[in-house]
Amino acid sequence: MQSGSYIDGKWFQPKSERVVKNINPADTKDVIAEFPMATAADTERAIDAARRAFAGWKKTPGPERGRVLWRAADIARQRVDEIARLMTREEGKIFREARGEVMKGISLIEYYAGAGFRMGGKTLPSEVRDTFTYTIRQPVGVVALISPWNFPWAIPVWKSAPALIAGNAVVFKPASLTPATAAVLAEIYEEAGLPPGVFNLVIGSGSEVGEVMVSSPHIPIISFTGSNEIGSALHIKAASRGAKVTCEMGGKNAVIVMADADLEKAAVAIRDGAFGSTGQRCTATSRVIAAESVKAELVERLAAFAKGIKVGSGLDESVDMGPAVDEGQFNTNLEYIEIAKSEGAKLVSGGGRPAGLPDGYFVEPTIFDDVKPEMRIFQEEVFGPVLSVATAKNLEEALKVANSVEFGLTTSIFTQDINHIMKFIDEVETGMVHINEPTIGGEAQLPFGGVKSTGVGDREMSEEGLHFFTELKTVFINYSGESGRAMIR
Ligand code: NAP
Ligand code: MG
Repeated sequence: MQSGSYIDGKWFQPKSERVVKNINPADTKDVIAEFPMATAADTERAIDAARRAFAGWKKTPGPERGRVLWRAADIARQRVDEIARLMTREEGKIFREARGEVMKGISLIEYYAGAGFRMGGKTLPSEVRDTFTYTIRQPVGVVALISPWNFPWAIPVWKSAPALIAGNAVVFKPASLTPATAAVLAEIYEEAGLPPGVFNLVIGSGSEVGEVMVSSPHIPIISFTGSNEIGSALHIKAASRGAKVTCEMGGKNAVIVMADADLEKAAVAIRDGAFGSTGQRCTATSRVIAAESVKAELVERLAAFAKGIKVGSGLDESVDMGPAVDEGQFNTNLEYIEIAKSEGAKLVSGGGRPAGLPDGYFVEPTIFDDVKPEMRIFQEEVFGPVLSVATAKNLEEALKVANSVEFGLTTSIFTQDINHIMKFIDEVETGMVHINEPTIGGEAQLPFGGVKSTGVGDREMSEEGLHFFTELKTVFINYSGESGRAMIR
């Protein structure tokens, strides 16, 4: 594995005093690698390399670009377990989930590889005689990709594959907590035959490398996933210079459990949504809104599940849940647990560090009952294994409570009543909705993203995610022999 940045087709070690110490959050004595941090000047060099490479990549036919991505998918498929193990070591999610993420990323590369054959516009009839009108989609130029640590493989893939297949050149800055998985992606693109400069990886801080990317007049498109704090400021800065931006940010996702729900299935889905990936998914379930008649039984099942979750290093295949990603997130989780207690929520499971795991950032799967919608624990994103349960009298009230938060990524409902299902789909304020399944999950061909404070700009993945990285050009070909336009005749 490389431990530097990759600029203009070359791996190099930035000559800076600052390093990213890549630590295993399940065992802080395990240092995976030290990455020297790239500087503002290195970032400018990456942008220049991308600008030069863009001209050739833009002219490369779509199917040929697609073949490079196909090769990348094949290479990644040979390295699945190795990538998953590295991801578990640097991010902490259990090996099974890391493997699932690698496979998801491979599907995304394959989906976009195929898109190289279908990058077309539309032919539409003109109002004018003897005039042929149609649209084409063209690449935009150098695009900036900025990603978080929680899906260190899938998110960089779902941003870079559509950007590349559309014919853009990429400057990519991963989260400082997960540089190693990012470096593997660059290795794979290199081996697959991407020309030098088409994909550049710059490992460095958000405040230095990120700022240069966001402010650069040579970068017309920025795709960001991360926190609202960073994303909102980035959006304003980029939009003020006319750049096109997509920001996918926080979530506070709810599962509504109606009185007629299959409680066992609902409890399994809530467990997987709340505690899978240690609750560190933007789509994680952090709220339950249950009908009064079933709440007590549901909470009992959830508490039993939570107590059965084995916490530990994700490299141990008998473990169900890994650590928080770092000390900061670990402290945030514990702080929110204290906030919930002081607000009067009732702790029914977990609430602290598990015994016997002193060397990692572990927190127990935690459940609070009797949570009121106005409490901070019900309104703010924790990004950890902390679940809040509230009640509602009926669907109207459940929807009102579900919609009371600033975020709008995903929601789920458990019910057999088709009238409730349809009303829920109509009225819930999130970009994705699930019926009788967890709040988590996404597929290459389906649009992914949220509304309200969660998302700005186009959806990711799918055709929408590809279109974001293109500019549409409308073409008028007049073969009438007259050069006047109909409107002014
Ligand atoms: P973060 O702190 O906002 O960081 C995200 C990225 O932005 C990192 O690469 C970070 O670099 C970079 N950055 C920091 N300051 C910057 C600046 N001034 N200019 C440009 N870039 C800058 O988020 P995170 O802690 O990595 O991830 C957790 C958050 O991501 C959660 O809120 C979660 O909900 C959200 N998320 C959302 C989705 C979605 O699709 N809606 C998916 C996954 C995660 P450094 O690491 O170097 O600071
Ligand atoms: Mg952060």
